[in-house]
Amino acid sequence: MSKRDYYEVLGVSRTATEAEMKSAFRKLAMQYHPDRNPGDHEAEVKFKEINEAYQTLSDGQKRAAYDRFGHAAFANGGPGGGGPGFGGDFSDFMSDIFENFFGDAGRGGRGRSTGGRERGADMRYNLEISLDEAYNGKTAELKIPTSITCEACSGSGAKPGSKPKACPTCGGAGRVRATQGFFSIERTCPNCHGRGEVIDDPCVQCGGAGRVTRERTLSVNIPAGVEDGTRIRLAGEGEAGLRGGPPGDLYIFLSLKPHPFFQRDGADLFCRVPISMVTAALGGEFSVPTLSGTDALVKVPEGTQTGKQFRLKGKGMPVLRSRDVGDLYIQVVVETPQKLTKRQRELLMEFDQECSKENHPESSGFFSRFREFIDGLGGST
Ligand SMILES: [Zn+2]
Ligand SMILES: [Zn+2]
Repeated sequence: MSKRDYYEVLGVSRTATEAEMKSAFRKLAMQYHPDRNPGDHEAEVKFKEINEAYQTLSDGQKRAAYDRFGHAAFANGGPGGGGPGFGGDFSDFMSDIFENFFGDAGRGGRGRSTGGRERGADMRYNLEISLDEAYNGKTAELKIPTSITCEACSGSGAKPGSKPKACPTCGGAGRVRATQGFFSIERTCPNCHGRGEVIDDPCVQCGGAGRVTRERTLSVNIPAGVEDGTRIRLAGEGEAGLRGGPPGDLYIFLSLKPHPFFQRDGADLFCRVPISMVTAALGGEFSVPTLSGTDALVKVPEGTQTGKQFRLKGKGMPVLRSRDVGDLYIQVVVETPQKLTKRQRELLMEFDQECSKENHPESSGFFSRFREFIDGLGGST
């Protein structure tokens, strides 16, 4: 089920102030309150939706997270949780190796007057790597379209030689007061949008924004042992701040391409290897390629059954930021021969005549043992 946009739920704009949101919430909550709509299931659902939206948007930090990532910011890896564009697994969201993902989300002071300076937005970059790359680690070259501080005006947004001046409407405070009856209401200055200053003569390079968009190349070191869903935070590599504000951070979201032969579970790798019936019966050996680039030899003892696992110590994945290495488990699956020739068929039938109970201790007499057990149960009651 796709969730409705929280702003849409409250019927407010994305730039709504706390007060606007509160009043919208109150109105809707009154309308859909279960006490006023007894037995109306739809109203109940709506009421819950309104509550959830308001709880998120009224919390500055949660609102900033929601603005950036939508509902996915709060999905704990649950079914249907991830929003579009969010491929990563969020189950380890909080225990991320790079702590405090939203730690500075609230600090930018969005919408507040901060002397015109605004922290740049955080950015997200999705990077898909192979299991081999996760094994070895790699240096990834990322091409990132990003806005950087405008060189022409040094980020001020004003034409070189001129300067932004204090907003005449609010006198540089970024907020204005209006009196309505008994109340004096403070709101964001409509002239400067809270910045406190205005630019008469904007810089031609950036149109007054103080930033320009460029593509830049960033080399990022992906450490060996990273897992699917790992996030790497590069402080200060996000969007440039507005008018001299600090830059945001860049988050790299790693996902691992599935490997055709190896399945990964933490540091351990698993691989299923089919062996012939003859190898399983007589014993033998085979070598498997490993991610280290060298082959590993697996010795199959005589009489090996299907499903048997062989552990190759230290042939798994490296553990992130440690010297530990996982193991590689090889599970053999005995392949029953198919499309037999007449001669093969005769040989197998001849072989079968030579067989005794000892050759097939599991299958011979299985059904009579089964039946005896069932009959025994019946007799005991
Ligand atoms: Zn400029
Ligand atoms: Zn102003």
